[in-house]
Amino acid sequence: MLIFRKPLPNIEHPEMPADVVIVGGGPAGMACALRLSQLIDEHNVRHPEAPLSKENVYVLEKAREAGQHCLSGALLDPRSMKELLPGFESEAPLDAAVHKEGVYFLTRTGHYQLPITPPPLQDHGNYVISINRFVKWLAGKVEAAGITIFTGFAGSELLFDRHGDGDRVTGVRTDDKGVDKQNQQKSNFEPGYDVKAKVVVLAEGSRGSLTKQLIQKFDLMKDRNPQTYGVGVKELWEVPSGRIQPGEVIYTMGYPLSTKEYGGAWIYGSKGDGPKENIVSLGFVTGLDYHDPRLDPQHVLQAFKQHPFVAKLLAGGKMIRYGAKSLPYGGWWSLPPLGGDGWMIIGDSAGFLNSARLKGIHLAIKSGMLAAETAFEALVKSDASAATLGKFQRRVETSWIHDELWPVRNFHQGFEKGMVAGMFNTVLQELFDGGLRNRVPSHAGHENLQPFASLPADGGPEAHMLGPAKGDGKLTFDKLTDLYHSGTRHEEDQPAHLLIQDTTICNDRCLKEFGSPCQNFCPANVYEMLDDAAAPNGKRISLNPANCVHCKTCDIQDPYQIITWVPPEGGGGPNYDGM
Ligand SMILES: Cc1cc2nc3c(=O)[nH]c(=O)nc-3n(C[C@H](O)[C@H](O)[C@H](O)COP(=O)(O)OP(=O)(O)OC[C@H]3O[C@@H](n4cnc5c(N)ncnc54)[C@H](O)[C@@H]3O)c2cc1C
Ligand code: SF4
Repeated sequence: MLIFRKPLPNIEHPEMPADVVIVGGGPAGMACALRLSQLIDEHNVRHPEAPLSKENVYVLEKAREAGQHCLSGALLDPRSMKELLPGFESEAPLDAAVHKEGVYFLTRTGHYQLPITPPPLQDHGNYVISINRFVKWLAGKVEAAGITIFTGFAGSELLFDRHGDGDRVTGVRTDDKGVDKQNQQKSNFEPGYDVKAKVVVLAEGSRGSLTKQLIQKFDLMKDRNPQTYGVGVKELWEVPSGRIQPGEVIYTMGYPLSTKEYGGAWIYGSKGDGPKENIVSLGFVTGLDYHDPRLDPQHVLQAFKQHPFVAKLLAGGKMIRYGAKSLPYGGWWSLPPLGGDGWMIIGDSAGFLNSARLKGIHLAIKSGMLAAETAFEALVKSDASAATLGKFQRRVETSWIHDELWPVRNFHQGFEKGMVAGMFNTVLQELFDGGLRNRVPSHAGHENLQPFASLPADGGPEAHMLGPAKGDGKLTFDKLTDLYHSGTRHEEDQPAHLLIQDTTICNDRCLKEFGSPCQNFCPANVYEMLDDAAAPNGKRISLNPANCVHCKTCDIQDPYQIITWVPPEGGGGPNYDGM
């Protein structure tokens, strides 16, 4: 029987007072911490009589080490970093400056380069980085500035207090450690802390679990477009030298996707942290609004690598890392309110990502900086109410985040009707400052999944990316082989952190209607339908939670919306070294 992680009854949680707690130590959270530290330092020089302390500013990060759960392309637009740490280029781990871009359209066997690189994909001035190394470096800066980062601690619940007419966020409970598979205390049990904070900043990345709690509790998306997502599946390769230069950037559209799906690939020439000059970062982002529940995003990447254009680049090379992560595509109209009583939301958790450019790192950093200014104001005024923290919204609206996201506010909505309509809409956007309508509505992507009985049994034009990829062990890999290269490790003796509200829906309905798409969309083989003569359709759902790479795809794409991802015991998860 599946036992799910849930709060243990009658547990005393030690309290820990905090001024500001930042949940999530990715680019957004680290930038927020660093900017707050700078503002406190400046204040203390100006007002030695009324100094502010940094001792009670904390970052909680669920990974064992900062950066381990961070996965990105990654090209860094340096705009916000230049503001945060002028001159950062001289010491940050930047693998290569972009010196060459190309955008290609792939047919099944051919490739055609676009005569010009569309402006959103012009990357001169940007850097190829490993987000893992970059975040580790930022974490060093945060700690050197005197701010404590608690690694291996996940925020598992938000704490609320009744206050006047409504609830306010008063802190974060961290994960209980030492809970066994039956959801019982083990001998090494340690209760989580109640970090009671004046200001809670949610910086959990895409589909944050506390952010989801907050959004649901206060119905924050009620006047917004629903957030839409993609999932990026990435491999790092070491290839024979001379194939691609560090700093060379390739984007592709088309194959293996048909015109019905949204997505595309990146190939970046990079170098490792040693003397190597022959590292290729490649990946495929598949929009989580596809129709066929049999589609498998990990298989999409395998099919992409078999295209002659890509296979030639990788021939004789070796895959060295694997990972997957979701990213929010919705843009401006899918941003929730950004601040309220005791809380703010930054980075991918809010949805600060420019999907036309496949870039969010610089926006995550900038949103973190603006949230830090707001948190600082709250500390100085001793007022962390919505009146102060709500000003974060205005700060964003008057910053270059708005200038960048506003013209592409209807970009992703255009692709809801397929690739061709989307390209046409993109041109209209360029010509008419965001298109012909101020706000184009959108739908949650999982609503597009069609019952598989209505789809061609042989898969039709999508056949080459449906179901599990087999892999030849050289160029292509099955999921478990790929997963081995993600370095994923969890404490095995713990309850499942994928909470399925009602498993009878999986066994009785989903299997028949959608063919259990969780087996396909999960890039880590967590979900399996096992033979079981006693089950109504001869199969029952089973989980391998220890495989989970924390991409959040299941929480997003399940057709009945009955899966909730919650953090497993802190410290577990992938190890995206060098990714
Ligand atoms: C496949 C892919 C390719 C991309 N390519 C690019 C690119 O080339 N250029 C670009 O600019 N952007 C790119 N992006 C987007 C970019 O990576 C994100 O916008 C950026 O990383 C967002 O930063 P963040 O700090 O908001 O979130 P994240 O980077 O996701 O960091 C969130 C952190 O919070 C931690 N966390 C989450 N929940 C909890 C919790 N409850 N408790 C404690 N810790 C928690 C996580 O472990 C993680 O360390 C890409 C994204 C993907 C998925
Ligand atoms: S279980 Fe969910 S979050 Fe974990 S790897 Fe699979 S799809 Fe991603």
